[in-house]
Amino acid sequence: MEVKTSLLDNMIGVGDMVLLEPLNEDSFIVNLRNRFDHNEIYTYIGSVVISMNPYRSLPIYTPQKVEEYRNRNFYELSPHIYALADEAYRSLRDQDKDQCILITGESGAGKTEASKLVMSYVAAVCGKGQEVNKVKEQLLQSNPVLEAFGNAKTMRNDNSSRFGKYMDIEFDFKGDPLGGVISNYLLEKSRVCKQPRGERNFHIFYQLLSGASDDTLMKLKLDRDFSKYNYLSLDSANVNGLDDAASFRTVRNAMQIVGFMEAEVQSVLELVAAVLKLGNIEFKPESRVNGFDESREMCELLGIEQSVLERAFSYRTVEAKMEKMSTTLNVAQAYYARDALAKNLYSRLFSWLVTRINESIKVGPLSGLVMGVLDIYGFEIFEDNSFEQFIINYCNEKLQQIFIELTLREEQEEYIREDIEWTNIEYFNNAIICDLIENNQNGILAMLDEECLRPGTVTDDTFLDKLNTICAEHQHFESRLNKNSKFLTDHSLPHSCFRIQHYAGKVLYRVEGFVDKNNDLLYRDLSQAMYKATHSLMRQLFPEGNPAKVNLKRPPTAGFQFKASVGVLMKNLQTKNPNYIRCIKPNDKKVAHIFTDSLVCHQVRYLGLVENVRVRRAGYAFQMLYLLSYSSRCSCFYHPLDAFFLCPQLFTLEERRRACLEDLATLIQKIYRGWKSRTHFLLLKKSQV
Ligand code: ATP
Ligand code: MG
Repeated sequence: MEVKTSLLDNMIGVGDMVLLEPLNEDSFIVNLRNRFDHNEIYTYIGSVVISMNPYRSLPIYTPQKVEEYRNRNFYELSPHIYALADEAYRSLRDQDKDQCILITGESGAGKTEASKLVMSYVAAVCGKGQEVNKVKEQLLQSNPVLEAFGNAKTMRNDNSSRFGKYMDIEFDFKGDPLGGVISNYLLEKSRVCKQPRGERNFHIFYQLLSGASDDTLMKLKLDRDFSKYNYLSLDSANVNGLDDAASFRTVRNAMQIVGFMEAEVQSVLELVAAVLKLGNIEFKPESRVNGFDESREMCELLGIEQSVLERAFSYRTVEAKMEKMSTTLNVAQAYYARDALAKNLYSRLFSWLVTRINESIKVGPLSGLVMGVLDIYGFEIFEDNSFEQFIINYCNEKLQQIFIELTLREEQEEYIREDIEWTNIEYFNNAIICDLIENNQNGILAMLDEECLRPGTVTDDTFLDKLNTICAEHQHFESRLNKNSKFLTDHSLPHSCFRIQHYAGKVLYRVEGFVDKNNDLLYRDLSQAMYKATHSLMRQLFPEGNPAKVNLKRPPTAGFQFKASVGVLMKNLQTKNPNYIRCIKPNDKKVAHIFTDSLVCHQVRYLGLVENVRVRRAGYAFQMLYLLSYSSRCSCFYHPLDAFFLCPQLFTLEERRRACLEDLATLIQKIYRGWKSRTHFLLLKKSQV
């Protein structure tokens, strides 16, 4: 299919899908491909930016490009992520409106790269000066630190985020950055002990072993050889294009800029080494610790008596109100305890890093203007999907829900409310899937919690039985209401699995480990042993090990905490003006120049992009409210350019874009004197040409 070329002579394809003729899924994909083939990776849907991952570095992020996009109107230049960043920054600075940048897309689509591009653009265009530059550097350098500890190579992405991140950057009234706050969401800690085939552990392990000096490694009692460590998968230890040794230097440098003291860095590395050592401790049938040297070295690193550690791996003490009971651990239980300790140690270290970075970059109580940047783990469908994928996909559902609420539902409803002639545009609303997962009574997370807290024998299979029974009832109820259930039951399901029809596709989840991961319990013997360490950071990470503060209450489950924190995040996002970047993955080979139509089409479909264009096309580009609030405080409202862009309801996008190319000042002054309607404007323009 041929797509009409651009209105702008030098533009490849159509830069804004709103102008695409004819508009359908095929023409949409052809346009994306056409642009992608010509290195135009950004395309607009009105103010939404679609970003195609080029899988190679393009010369479009230079300081010259920054200058080009600085203070320019959104539609003036060819589509670019910098235009979105500039628009968001200027609305924040000039209209006092908090912004959030919502970046979505599946794993490997380019979200993390996009978030860094937005941050670096804003850093480049906002204020200068020694203090401001220091703040900017600290904000930017928090990225390599968190990526080293929170990202890993997966089958989908060589630098996959295994945690969710939301960063609020705070600005003063001049638009200078003051600092920020980072929130992190559930790290995929199971990766510490085991990685799926073809994947790696978190980058920092490989970086440390490859990049640290001999002296550092000696102090940490580590060997440079990856193969010495049980927790490091070997089949993909070296990743093409990743230079672990160089990254280690970058991370060390970044930690220093962010404000870590040398002793703190050393402490962090000691804990990373301790995790590797833990993985090498093995147990004999009678449950005695086998890797004696490893256990001794780990104890030396952390200042723990070896007998204390070994005892913690041999017994489990259960405390009830007045009673204490000790049982001996068998080999399997000892391994389980070891891995639970390693996962907890690492994820707590990660959260500590976030807190420590926040200490450096925080401003005090947030009061100024805020730009939030959200970069979470993307939607995942693996062969084997577990609790982690369930949580990741739930988070993506919530984000899709915000997009639907704000761009598809609210906008349409507003037109209808205001009696504006409107033909309803159909779209899929994923609220039903969110409800299936998070409903307080019979949502999957609530059922999992109920099962985890139930006395008696609880297993993953009892959880699945419950799920099947309740969801089947629910489904029956829904089918009576003529709704499509998204909990799919059929006889072809493999044993111990359930399937959900997510907005982005069907995912089969294996229940194995759901109960355990949700409970996220660590035997108290282990936390008490860790609390006995002389290593102060280690003690800090296990406060519940303090015998003076025995708390018999169960900590909230992982699912419960995640749901609560995502709820807070969603509320926060809704108070801000959203700016969307929809990332698309062109192929699943992680290579440049390949555009797989079917893969792109699938993403375009589930992201609801064509519907997004339809709503945009039928609607107004801006709302009147915006005009009013702007005019009440801004003296440059009378500038013809502003008038033109602030009254877009009188003009089509095409007209606005044309106007960018013409002599705006004269053209608009003429229009401004006499315009009454769009027809009038068109007439005027014809006479101009
Ligand atoms: P995940 O959900 O797994 O974290 P993601 O959406 O964050 O995935 P990224 O890590 O941002 O994906 O991108 C994956 C890889 O794609 C990057 O490491 C980089 O190699 C490449 N890439 C993404 N965006 C760009 C870009 N704009 N220019 C060049 N390469 C890019
Ligand atoms: Mg990422």
